[in-house]
Parts: sequence; structure tokens; C-alpha cells
Amino acid sequence: MSVELVAPGCEVLNLSPLVIENVKDYFHVHTYGGLTRFFEGLRASRLLGTRCTNRACEEHRIWLPPRAYCPDCLRPMEWVEAPQRGEIFTHTTVEYPGSNFKLSTPCPLISVSLEGVCTKMMSYLKDGRPEIGMKIRAWFRTENPTHTILDLAWVPA
Ligand SMILES: [Zn+2]
Repeated sequence: MSVELVAPGCEVLNLSPLVIENVKDYFHVHTYGGLTRFFEGLRASRLLGTRCTNRACEEHRIWLPPRAYCPDCLRPMEWVEAPQRGEIFTHTTVEYPGSNFKLSTPCPLISVSLEGVCTKMMSYLKDGRPEIGMKIRAWFRTENPTHTILDLAWVPA
């Protein structure tokens, strides 16, 4: 038995330090299931979260990204409009992304704080330089949507 290389090798992009282009051609198919409305909302410039309607549950603020079922009491959640204006809670900037990163770099990743929302949503700042406390508003990729969370970003308000 002999083992041979059956895939193409990598192209060298830089010699020192050695940088190679390792092309990946895999993909996966998955459903958004109970969170489909959230992604449909992005295409319509709507930011939809979910909220627990169980009076006995302690958390009644909006969850964003949404949860189909309440993480606390496990009951189905109701869909509600989330605010499209908020502020940056914290941030970091990606300079050297891993493979399959689909945004240009440097890319400011932000944690978004929204009034009435119990979670801090991770996203990216499409324009501008991030600062903690910076007022921002939602931006939606309605033309040529990716049908992923990348269809939502934030810009200075
Ligand atoms: Zn609950």
C-alpha cells in the first residue's frame, strides 16, 4: 500500500515568515429552525428578538440573538421588535482572521448594548472607529444578503 497526495498543494504567498494559501472547499447545510424569523427580519431591516411570556420567569427582557425557548424556564418565547439604536459595550479589532473570515480587516467586533435587551449581542462596526459607549444604530445588508448574521452590522448613530 502506498499513500499519495490527492489534493492540490498550497500556494506560497510569502517566504519569511512562510505564509501559504490553504484552499478549503467544504461547506455545510443547516437550518435556522425556530430562529428563521430572525434572519427573515434582517432582510426586511427588522431586528427581532424573543421574550419570555411566563409570568413566573424572572427574565422578561428581550433576548438577542433570539432564543426559540426561554433559557430559564424552557417555554416557547414570543417574537418582538428589538431597538435598533444602542451603544458599544466593549470591542476588539480583528487584524489577522482565521480561515473563512468573510469580512475585510481590520474589522471592529463589538458587543452591543441595547435598552430592554438582557444580552449583549456580538456584531461588527461597519463604519468608524469603535469606542466604549459610542452611540450606534443597526445597519442591514438588504441588497445581496448573505442570509447569515453578517447581514446585520452597526454604524455610528
Ligand atoms: Zn422564561
